[in-house]
Amino acid sequence: KNWPQSYALPYDELQDILMSTPDEEHVRGWSKYYTSGPHLAGKNFSQALWTENMWRGFGIADTSIASYDVYLNYPIGHRLALLEKKDRKKEEAAKGGWEVKFEADLEERVHKEDGTSGLKDRIPTFHGFSANGNVTAPFVYANYGTYQDFDDLSNANISVKGKIVLARYGLIFRGLKVKRAQELGAVGVVIYSDPGDDGDETNEKGVDTYPSGPAREPSSVQRGSVQFLSIAPGDPTTPGYPSKPGVPRQDPKHAVPSIPSIPISYLDALPLLRALNGYGPKASSMSERWKGGGLGYRGVEYNIGPSPDGILLNLVNEQEYVTTPIWNVIGVINGTLSGEVVLIGNHHDAWVAGGAADPNSGSAALNEVIRSFGKALEKGWRPLRTIVFASWDGEEHGLIGSTEWVEEFLPWLSGSAVAYLNVDVGVSGPHFKSSASPVLNKALYEITSLVASPNQTIAGQTVRDTWDGHIQTMGSGSDFTAFQDYAGIPCVDMGFSYSPESAVYHYHSNYDSFDWMDRFGDPGWHYHVTIAKLWSLLAAKLVESPLIQFNATDYATGLSRYLRSAEDEAKQIHKGDADENNSGELKDPWDTTFAHLKHSIEGLRAAAIELDARAAKLEEQLSEDIPWWKWWEKVKLFYEVMKVNNRYKYLERQFLYPQGLDGRSWFKHIVFAPGIWTGYSGATFPGLVESIADKNWTNAKRWGRIIDKRIKLAKEQLG
Ligand code: GLU
Ligand code: CA
Ligand code: ZN
Ligand code: ZN
Repeated sequence: KNWPQSYALPYDELQDILMSTPDEEHVRGWSKYYTSGPHLAGKNFSQALWTENMWRGFGIADTSIASYDVYLNYPIGHRLALLEKKDRKKEEAAKGGWEVKFEADLEERVHKEDGTSGLKDRIPTFHGFSANGNVTAPFVYANYGTYQDFDDLSNANISVKGKIVLARYGLIFRGLKVKRAQELGAVGVVIYSDPGDDGDETNEKGVDTYPSGPAREPSSVQRGSVQFLSIAPGDPTTPGYPSKPGVPRQDPKHAVPSIPSIPISYLDALPLLRALNGYGPKASSMSERWKGGGLGYRGVEYNIGPSPDGILLNLVNEQEYVTTPIWNVIGVINGTLSGEVVLIGNHHDAWVAGGAADPNSGSAALNEVIRSFGKALEKGWRPLRTIVFASWDGEEHGLIGSTEWVEEFLPWLSGSAVAYLNVDVGVSGPHFKSSASPVLNKALYEITSLVASPNQTIAGQTVRDTWDGHIQTMGSGSDFTAFQDYAGIPCVDMGFSYSPESAVYHYHSNYDSFDWMDRFGDPGWHYHVTIAKLWSLLAAKLVESPLIQFNATDYATGLSRYLRSAEDEAKQIHKGDADENNSGELKDPWDTTFAHLKHSIEGLRAAAIELDARAAKLEEQLSEDIPWWKWWEKVKLFYEVMKVNNRYKYLERQFLYPQGLDGRSWFKHIVFAPGIWTGYSGATFPGLVESIADKNWTNAKRWGRIIDKRIKLAKEQLG
């Protein structure tokens, strides 16, 4: 009511448009287009142009392409073969040459359903940023290839030095498996998809595999980047600055592997795993985490190896490295307020010709979001805050398009960005999942309560009702990373995801096809429509509410929780040390660090509660009737609202530490970072927690001081 009315559409009418515009036929159509051919990073110009034109057609006149020249690879060739020394059993080694016992296919089978059968240019199986190489060596099974798995191996006196590591996908970002293997002297890495990790041991029970049924297609391969994601995303030759033509380039070796790696299917993995039967300890004898490989029924005993004398693996990886243009599509609707911007984005590059889930379920939804806002524009609406829509390129190789863009526009974003809302895989199953900065938790709960759930067990249930309400901390693995961790902009990432009970999602495989989505992933396309509605309603809430819809108290609550877990970890580690030294008397090596931090967080909480109350009161005043002749009261109110908004807007920025985290200075956020050895899942208070894990108490105290300073700055920012 008491807000400058520069826009022609009341909020509830805008909401109606956003709720009623997206439909199944449209999303299905967009999906059909986007899944109709290969569109690797830097090889999707026609899709970028098509998207640009489409968005203009929806009414976003200010749509353009932002291009960068980036370093990346395309596949040329590969080989994986099991070699056996002739007459090995007779131990006539001197006589024998080597013969090929098994030659891996390294190809996904062609089915007429999956849409790739007619494509001569369908994309081979390979890893983004994998190193070129031709190595022949014994091999070792390394479970998931986590840091802990490699530790377990060395505790069992099994070295990977000079060997090829065979690991299964799962638990952590694949590039970090390669990173650890490389650090320990391995000469190559092979990563396969174990059906035991897909919940489709059902296959064993006779459930049909795709395309006949929902179980994993045995030849399916998960492509994907092996960049060192937790060290730095983006173009590895331009850390911290945009890859514009002609800029200086750094050696990328800090952020990409120097040993070759390839991804394979479980069909190709079978002969390798079987060759280890009887050699070295059984995986199941190691620990709980090592159990559960799903190929027991195919004669795999899951021995660790190493492979016996006379059995070697030959791994060849041939990649073309280029510096080549990529294309982000950027659409802007200017708002009436200056200096307040809400951004929403998805990527359009894909590993495969289809990519119906990744990324095209998100891309299809984004088109519907923009079409909806376009309808509002047609009615004369102007948003209060500026909206930026982005379709990123180069996400798959390493979040390149979004990272370079954030690096280029950092000064503008630092001043004006309110939030970034990311949807990557919008739909790969029926379960709503989300991660968010704590300031956005409340908005997310409110929006999910407005939209009907596509899987109601009781009529009338909303997405909120059918969701467990768990909001994860921000990790990495998609385009929010530069916004959250480099620019300190609050982010949300969301989508509908799979579970062991739903059809197997063939991530980064040819079978992530339009056909799979149409028959298994989202028959009826209701989840696509639902994610579009959630996305645009969340955007509208952040764009249109006079008060920025943040909750600062939730941030303080988050910080308390993260601190408790850091302190628990410290106590656990110290207890171990004290026990070893047989002296429980030791003074806590972290000194007063936790006490200080607790105190500062309580200070922040008090200021946050006050600010949230002030915002609530202003919201009330905005809805009250102020007679026209008391216009100065309206002006006063306007300035009050702007003041509170500024406090909210710059809250998360206070958590940036310009020098960055130890050993990965690109990451500036002191509260959130990708886990250094997980990548996907988030670490909280990373500087502090990593120092504790290293038992580097001096550094832990140093991080305590750095964090304390930031929390105090945040408190000042709030009050
Ligand atoms: N979504 C991509 C993946 O998980 C991101 C790759 C990267 O961050 O390097 O493979
Ligand atoms: Ca860069
Ligand atoms: Zn994706
Ligand atoms: Zn992907």
